[in-house]
Amino acid sequence: MHYDYLVVGRGLAGSLLSYFLIRNGRRVIVYDHTEQPKASNAAAGIFNPFTGRKLVKTWMADDLFPFLVDFYHKLEQDLEIKVMHKMPMYRPFLTLQEQNDWGAKIHDLAYSQYIDSIVGPEERISEVANPLGGMMLQQCGFVDIGALIEGVKRYLIQNNSLQQQPLSIKDLELEQDYVVYGQHRAARIVFCEGPWLEMNHYFNWLPLRPVKGEILEVELRDPLSFIVNRGIFILPVNGRISLVGATFDHQNLDWSITEAARDQLEVKLKKLLKIPYKIIGQRAGIRPASADRRPLIGIHPEFEPLAVFNGLGTKGVSLAPYLIYRFFEFIEKGEPLIPEVSISRYFSLYYSKN
Ligand SMILES: Cc1cc2nc3c(=O)[nH]c(=O)nc-3n(C[C@H](O)[C@H](O)[C@H](O)COP(=O)(O)OP(=O)(O)OC[C@H]3O[C@@H](n4cnc5c(N)ncnc54)[C@H](O)[C@@H]3O)c2cc1C
Repeated sequence: MHYDYLVVGRGLAGSLLSYFLIRNGRRVIVYDHTEQPKASNAAAGIFNPFTGRKLVKTWMADDLFPFLVDFYHKLEQDLEIKVMHKMPMYRPFLTLQEQNDWGAKIHDLAYSQYIDSIVGPEERISEVANPLGGMMLQQCGFVDIGALIEGVKRYLIQNNSLQQQPLSIKDLELEQDYVVYGQHRAARIVFCEGPWLEMNHYFNWLPLRPVKGEILEVELRDPLSFIVNRGIFILPVNGRISLVGATFDHQNLDWSITEAARDQLEVKLKKLLKIPYKIIGQRAGIRPASADRRPLIGIHPEFEPLAVFNGLGTKGVSLAPYLIYRFFEFIEKGEPLIPEVSISRYFSLYYSKN
C-alpha cells in the first residue's frame, strides 16, 4: 500500500497529527507501540496562557490560544467526542507587590484579554488559602487527553490507518523520495515518539531533556468550578475528582510513582487547599522536553523523507495544534518553519557526530 505519511507514535502528537492529515485528505498509516507508556496518559492536559512561578505570558500565546480553541472544536465535531473543557484559573496573590502589579496589568492590552477579574481580599475564595485575594484568568481549561487519544484511535480504525505494533527502525528502508516498511510505502515518515526519541538513531542527536512528572488524583469534599494554580495546580476533572500536580524530576527518569513525589505534592496541597480531601490515585510520566524548552520539529538534515515532531515538553496541549498546522504548511507548501522550533537550529550537532 502507498501512503502520503507514515506516523510513528500515537500519543498527543501522533494522534493530533494523524487526525489533521487525514482530515486534509492525506493517506496515513500510524504505528503505535501499545506496550510502551505514553507521556500523554500521565498529563493533566491544562492549557493556560501564563506560565512559571512569575507567571509570564506563555511563548507565542497570542498565536497558540485562538488557534487551539478552533482546532479542538473542529476535532470534537469530526470525531463526535468532547475533549475541551474551558475553565477559569484562580491564582492567589502571595505578596502586596503581586497584587499591585496585576491590578495594573489588567489595563494592559497584552494581558487584559487573559484576565477575567482581580479578586480583592474582602471577596476572597473560601476553598483555598488566599488572604490577599488573587486573580481569575480566562482562556484556560483542560483537554481530556485520554478521550482524545481514544477518539482518534476509533477514527484511525475507521480509516484503515492503524497498526497496533511498534515500528522497528532498523527495518525501515530509505529511498531518495520515500520510505518502505514491510508492505507499506510512504512519501514521508514522521516520528512522534515523545520521550522515546533516544531509541531512534536517525534523530537521537537532538537534545531531548526528559523531565519526569507525577500527579495525584484526589477526591475533594466539595467540587471546585475553577483550576487553582499556585506552586501546584488543582484541576477539577469530574465532579469532586481533581488532579493535583505536578512534580519535576530531571534525574530519575523511570515511569514509576514515588512516595517522595506524593509527599512533596501533599505538603503543598495542605497549605493551599482549605477543604478536606482524600488521595485516590497517583500517576507518573516523562515529559519530552528539549534543552532550550522549544519543540523539535522538521526534516532530517540528510534524508528528506524523514521528519520529526517532538519536544512538546510541558505544554503539548497548547503547542501541538498550531505547530501541526505550521509543520504541514512547511512540508507541503515550503512555508518557513518558526525558527525557534525548527530542528535546523541543532544541525551542527548532527554534523559533528556524522
Ligand atoms: C505528569 C505530567 C503532567 C503533564 N501535564 C500537562 C498539562 O497539564 N498540559 C500540557 O499541555 N502538557 C502536559 N504534560 C506534557 C504532555 O504530556 C506532553 O507534552 C505530550 O503528552 C507529549 O506527547 P507526545 O505524543 O510527544 O509523547 P507520548 O505521549 O509519550 O507519545 C509517544 C508515543 O510514541 C510511541 N512510540 C515510540 N517509539 C515508537 C515506535 N518505534 N513505534 C511505535 N510507537 C512508538 C510511544 O509508545 C508513545 O505512545 C504533562 C506531562 C506529564 C508527564
